[in-house]
Amino acid sequence: MGDDEVDPTSDHVEDVAEEDAPDCTTCGDPVVGHESRVVTWIEDGQATHRHFCDDSCRADWDDERVD
Ligand SMILES: [Zn+2]
Repeated sequence: MGDDEVDPTSDHVEDVAEEDAPDCTTCGDPVVGHESRVVTWIEDGQATHRHFCDDSCRADWDDERVD
């Protein structure tokens, strides 16, 4: 007790600090936390990523992937 430094601004402990987090493709919020989703696909031979803060942002995404 008392040994742990707790950041009062964080509800959860994550590897990624908010300023280092990618922006949600849908709402622009920093993508942190266990609810986050990442969609990855290959476009022109390169791995492309889209980050979302949760499932609802993922569902609201206007899928830009080409067939
Ligand atoms: Zn979002």
